[in-house]
Amino acid sequence: MKRYRNLVVANWKMNPESIEEAKRIFGSIKKNAEKLKNIDVVICPPFVFLENLAKDKRPKNLYLGVQDIFHQTKGAFTGEVSAEMVRNTGAQYVIVGHSERRAAGETNEIVNRKITVAFESGLLPILCVGEKERDRDGNHLEFLKTQIKECLIGLHKKYLVGITVAYEPIWAIGKSYKESMSPTDIHETTLFIKKIIGEYFGRDIANSIHILYGGSVEVENAGAIIKLGNVEGFLVGHASLVAEEFGEILKVADAKR
Ligand code: PEP
Repeated sequence: MKRYRNLVVANWKMNPESIEEAKRIFGSIKKNAEKLKNIDVVICPPFVFLENLAKDKRPKNLYLGVQDIFHQTKGAFTGEVSAEMVRNTGAQYVIVGHSERRAAGETNEIVNRKITVAFESGLLPILCVGEKERDRDGNHLEFLKTQIKECLIGLHKKYLVGITVAYEPIWAIGKSYKESMSPTDIHETTLFIKKIIGEYFGRDIANSIHILYGGSVEVENAGAIIKLGNVEGFLVGHASLVAEEFGEILKVADAKR
């Protein structure tokens, strides 16, 4: 399955605490998703809620995903979950290389393997990249360049075409819209990401990729980012757990044509 519509991904992280609460938020998102015309929505709950949420009937534009998978397909890996297991629940997406996983030791090489096992099992990966900090000398651009190259190197062209990359500057994650990245800086960075992908993997691939922005997207900045940021959607953390606010973000993303 390849994706051609704009996308908003909800990363619930280690929230909420109970299945009842997860169902309540999911139920409200379902109602909002039904009214959308132009975008797809992906909810990535914790693994333990996945099977239960997957049982519910949902609109065609609402998908389930997970926040991580293991980079091997099966075996003695205590506590890990494979891409195949996830696919068998009916989920279709997986976030890979999130900065919170990278902070726990995940390398670009492991992320690269996760992208491969995801595709081989029929899951669509959402590759997260982003720098810890920005500096005047542009070192953050070098950092991004290495991350993109090492995460995607060696992947089959059929996987690279149309791949989704979530640009998530780490310094902007988990804050408020006031401390998020400006739409013009987002625009500049997404152009840079496409340029790098073009250099390493070719113009066709660069033109086919989908770039999302993540990092304190809230209802207050979503409109400006979608208009000026040169992105095809969002990866939303904390605001995706507040059903009403997330509903408003979805409307804003849906309005861009
Ligand atoms: C994230 O962690 O992927 C994220 C985008 O979080 P937040 O929206 O809370 O910054």
